Amino acid sequence: SDKGKYPDSYYAASRNPKPDRPTLKNDIQTEVCVVGGGYSGLSTALHLIETDHEVVILEGAQIGWGASGRNGGQIVNGLNASLQKIQKSYGQQNADFVGQLVTRGGKIIRRFIADYNIDCDLKEKNIFAALNNGQLRDLQETHALWESHGMHDREMLDKSGIQEHI
Ligand SMILES: Cc1cc2nc3c(=O)[nH]c(=O)nc-3n(C[C@H](O)[C@H](O)[C@H](O)COP(=O)(O)OP(=O)(O)OC[C@H]3O[C@@H](n4cnc5c(N)ncnc54)[C@H](O)[C@@H]3O)c2cc1C
Repeated sequence: SDKGKYPDSYYAASRNPKPDRPTLKNDIQTEVCVVGGGYSGLSTALHLIETDHEVVILEGAQIGWGASGRNGGQIVNGLNASLQKIQKSYGQQNADFVGQLVTRGGKIIRRFIADYNIDCDLKEKNIFAALNNGQLRDLQETHALWESHGMHDREMLDKSGIQEHI
């Protein structure tokens, strides 16, 4: 594939102007080399730079070329494997750890956006909607579970609450 050009997407079409990112041509010395310019690599590099480390990011295609430039773009307290599942398979302590990572991740993103003045059209808050009673029970269970992990930033909405928000 043509790694010099982003694949067509909303993000590619609406992104901010790209600064010069030179191609590595010679041997260079650096304290830390981060491989991959997605969320993981960029966040790692920023944290290191903030603590006075010298960092070079090597990206094989473009910044945000992988999942980071093609995702839903939503900061939600959600996990692919539910917290219930993690708790069942790996115990309460590990579920607590993963649960607080989710909150911490969102905070890191918000701090970066504020500190670096990132013009990314951040919108706060989102709605998980239940389409039937079974899904509503799932949401209620999940809500109770997240609450038990100390996350009190979710609110259960009833029918009129949903209508109001939509
Ligand atoms: C369809 C989809 C929707 C998603 N929706 C959401 C969402 O709404 N909210 C959310 O929080 N998460 C979402 N995710 C998950 C999220 O996108 C990923 O967890 C995250 O982007 C992973 O970031 P990463 O930096 O680890 O990997 P990537 O973003 O994939 O970055 C890896 C980078 O490394 C580069 N690379 C790889 N190998 C080399 C090499 N050898 N040398 C140099 N460079 C290399 C690649 O080119 C790439 O740029 C979604 C994912 C997908 C796929």
